[in-house]
Amino acid sequence: MRDKIVAGNWKMNNDQYQTKELLSNLKSSKIPDDVRVMVAPSFTQLSQSKNLLNNTNISVIAQNMNAAHSGAYTGEISADMLKGIEVNTVIIGHSERRSIFNESDEILKEKVKAALAADMEVIFCFGEELQERKTNNHYKVVANQLKVALFELPEIVWKNLILAYEPVWAIGTGETASPQQAQEMHAYIRKLIAQNYNQSTAENLAILYGGSVKPNNAKEIFSEQDVDGGLIGGASLKANDFIEIFSAF
Ligand code: PEP
Repeated sequence: MRDKIVAGNWKMNNDQYQTKELLSNLKSSKIPDDVRVMVAPSFTQLSQSKNLLNNTNISVIAQNMNAAHSGAYTGEISADMLKGIEVNTVIIGHSERRSIFNESDEILKEKVKAALAADMEVIFCFGEELQERKTNNHYKVVANQLKVALFELPEIVWKNLILAYEPVWAIGTGETASPQQAQEMHAYIRKLIAQNYNQSTAENLAILYGGSVKPNNAKEIFSEQDVDGGLIGGASLKANDFIEIFSAF
């Protein structure tokens, strides 16, 4: 049985007061027993969020990290620093990191390796841009992103990897991939993993969909066979919306 996962990526939102309010609303909701619910606050809110969510089954995860252990990297955070405050999962490769901060698949590969070496769990994001889909290159683009960033990893570490397929044209746009488009791509990704590794690695891997998941479309998307949950941006900032989404399985 694969994990069902709903992770909220807060991006650069929520100060300490908003964090407190949002998390207290989430805490008072019923978290389904069979869904792993995660929130990714900004770095400055990680410790407070850990404290507020103590004794709940909502995990606090990070939005990014640097591949280096330590050193002259002004403004950066290492895996060891995250582990030091018991943040054990990190999102790597979000499309905003790729497009705004120029993180290539080569750079992301180093980040993934560093996170896994620190015994962290990684949610690895990837997905095609609109033009690439329009020109029917989306499968090729996704295959290449996975090949460069992940396919040199040994099979043993895949138990600590979660994939998040996020078509760039659907992120923050209100435009969602149809459940069929998500299913087709997720099935393709699972096939690639089976080809490059083996069937059981592919079958055990959680593949999340991200891109304008909202309360009104979550159930339909999550009911697809190869969709194991969602990475949620905008809707994770509103307690009621996020609760409806993680309750939608
Ligand atoms: C995201 O940023 O990963 C995302 C999926 O955002 P949204 O849900 O707002 O489209």
